[in-house]
Amino acid sequence: MARERVLEVGYEAGGFDLFAELDGGVPARFFFASGGRSPFGEEFDLPREDHGPHSWEEVLETELDRNEWLRLHPCFIHPAIVPRVRATMDRAPERVESSWRSQVEQAEQEAAAATKRYVLLGADGKQYESAAKGALGGNAKHRIYGKLECGSARSAIKRWGEAYTRHRVFFADEATAIAAGFRPCGDCMRKQHAAWKKTRSGGQG
Ligand SMILES: [Zn+2]
Repeated sequence: MARERVLEVGYEAGGFDLFAELDGGVPARFFFASGGRSPFGEEFDLPREDHGPHSWEEVLETELDRNEWLRLHPCFIHPAIVPRVRATMDRAPERVESSWRSQVEQAEQEAAAATKRYVLLGADGKQYESAAKGALGGNAKHRIYGKLECGSARSAIKRWGEAYTRHRVFFADEATAIAAGFRPCGDCMRKQHAAWKKTRSGGQG
């Protein structure tokens, strides 16, 4: 299992590093890298090598909490440890420096963005989840697709609100929209719309 640095706390005499074995991105066991002394500088009776494993609760109890770590400087917080830091911060918010708050909040926002899923419409007309945002929008009722920034779509959303947005769908690309049976918007996709009209009237004789 990979051992990674998950936390670095800065204090006046130096820094404190905490390592963890990550199991599927979740810290399973914690280790101090500075065997022989406490990470915060006190001597204690252990060989000079990595020591652990510790549970997170042990890490808090033996080192972090009694050294008022949340009043010191957060140098590095691994995304895997953010939920535990957050839970610890929330237990005693009056003992937390604002620098911890801002770093944890930023990490939480990044994690939320990384796990965000978009619902797109596939070539088979069925919805699916995608990590990537759709490139085109559409109206499932009128079976029209167009650009995300389409002026017609934008004013319809503004005017009709939910009555319009509940028919709004998104596509990964134009080929998917066409395969799903949608036609190009006459406002924002004029070239495609003209071509589509031509094939249609041609087809009708
Ligand atoms: Zn349009």
